[in-house]
Amino acid sequence: VPELPEVETLRRSLEPVLVGQTVDSVRVLRRDVVVAPGDPPGGASRQRAPFTPAPLTPELLLDRAAIERLERRGKQLALVAADGRSVIVHLGMTGALLHTHEPRPRRHPPHTHIVWRLAGGSALRFVDPRRFGLVRAAPDGHANLWRSLGPDALSLRATELRTRAARTRRAVKAALLDQSFVAGVGNIYADEALFAAGIHPARPADTLVREETNRLACAIRRVLRDAIARGGSTIRDYRDASGAPGSYQSRHQVYGRAGDPCRRCRTPLTGTRLAQRATVFCSVCQRST
Ligand SMILES: [Zn+2]
Repeated sequence: VPELPEVETLRRSLEPVLVGQTVDSVRVLRRDVVVAPGDPPGGASRQRAPFTPAPLTPELLLDRAAIERLERRGKQLALVAADGRSVIVHLGMTGALLHTHEPRPRRHPPHTHIVWRLAGGSALRFVDPRRFGLVRAAPDGHANLWRSLGPDALSLRATELRTRAARTRRAVKAALLDQSFVAGVGNIYADEALFAAGIHPARPADTLVREETNRLACAIRRVLRDAIARGGSTIRDYRDASGAPGSYQSRHQVYGRAGDPCRRCRTPLTGTRLAQRATVFCSVCQRST
């Protein structure tokens, strides 16, 4: 599942090939991965009852746009055009944006849902086998759509974390997974950061003292930066824009290691469920009070 480091790795790999390019044409092979203005916010694939999709013009997906920059907040990526239009990409479970120098293959690879042809002769494809990802058109820009997201985890400041933690009694891990609390901490990095900071995942967030929120903010930034430096974690299907897998998964201290010895104290790590997610921690190294 792509998390922040994978999306940031993707952003950095796409930036040099997309910025300054003009979109020559947009081809949508599957309308239901797109959310246009007027569509239900979760997109067509989340709807149980039949509904009529809103009109979708190529302009809504950056046709004829000059791509000015790629922005990321949490796990969302925005392609931003010079004229103010944006497209937000959510990779979901298995989504990928692939840059290719073969813009007109006889057949697109399986699960290709959108193809942007670029004036320079290359193309960008949105590919998503399981279709939990989506592409959201934001013709007036994406600032409004990102207003509900918390501060980006990669640049999270200790004071921001402290203020937010003091306002909720939820388990600190549940709070970290809430994208409106802080954007971009997924299950892997929540467990890794809490271990690095020596904080039990079930601690009510408002019981963290200043020293702990300082350590946690620092740990969150560090585990995310380390993962980015290694090209992200390839757990299942994640690839960067050129199709290369990441290598961070071999560095995990706790994630996926329930029952294995803690790398710090050798106590077998505890596996449990918290906030509906598999959670691994060390009952000795991570303080519950
Ligand atoms: Zn330990």
